[in-house]
Amino acid sequence: MRLILLGPPGAGKGTQAQRLVDEHGIPQLSTGDMLRSAVAGGTEVGLRAKAVMDAGKLVSDDIVNAIVSERLDQPDCQAGFILDGFPRTLVQADATEKMLASKNMALSCVLELRVDDDVLVDRIGGRYTCANCGAGYHDENLKPATEGVCDKCGSTEFNRRPDDNPETVRTRLQAYYKETSPLLGYYYAKGLLKPVDGMAKIDAVTAQIDDVLSSL
Ligand code: AMP
Repeated sequence: MRLILLGPPGAGKGTQAQRLVDEHGIPQLSTGDMLRSAVAGGTEVGLRAKAVMDAGKLVSDDIVNAIVSERLDQPDCQAGFILDGFPRTLVQADATEKMLASKNMALSCVLELRVDDDVLVDRIGGRYTCANCGAGYHDENLKPATEGVCDKCGSTEFNRRPDDNPETVRTRLQAYYKETSPLLGYYYAKGLLKPVDGMAKIDAVTAQIDDVLSSL
């Protein structure tokens, strides 16, 4: 299964991607995570990307296209993958089409998580991840079973993203509407777009996605 998760920041792409990883055993390819680890590792890509990410703007197409193409060549992507946060521009979508064709990989579908704008800022404001394993949580919607302890790995250290503040979130939303939302039409016209109600509870969104995937 080769999937793209599309939707604005805070739509639940990362949360659903983690569940798809657990359920289907295919890797989550999050360009945001890859860029954050490049920033943390102080690599050349990280140094170039940091200021752009902190401002909530998009990193250049060349950089992200190259990191995704390289990642798709890893053996764990042979059985499938979940692209989370990529492609994010029409240039990236065209590049995706070319790179998948050259690797003999066809997309299964593009899952669109639909969420009302006014809940996105609140959702993003409350989210955090485990500092050890990266599992995602939310102050209201997705708390660990034991407060302060990661369900997955037992760690008690958590991180909040520096770009998850209200001002940067607004810039990220603008980037979504300007650069990424045209991809909805792009994939609709290819017959690949599958809308999902991202306003539903997390388990209900997962159930909708399962229905879509079993109908493919
Ligand atoms: P995310 O974790 O998907 O919210 O991404 C965090 C930040 O990384 C974004 O605000 C962008 O600055 C950058 N980024 C992630 N994916 C892409 C992409 N496909 N194209 C350009 N910039 C990206």
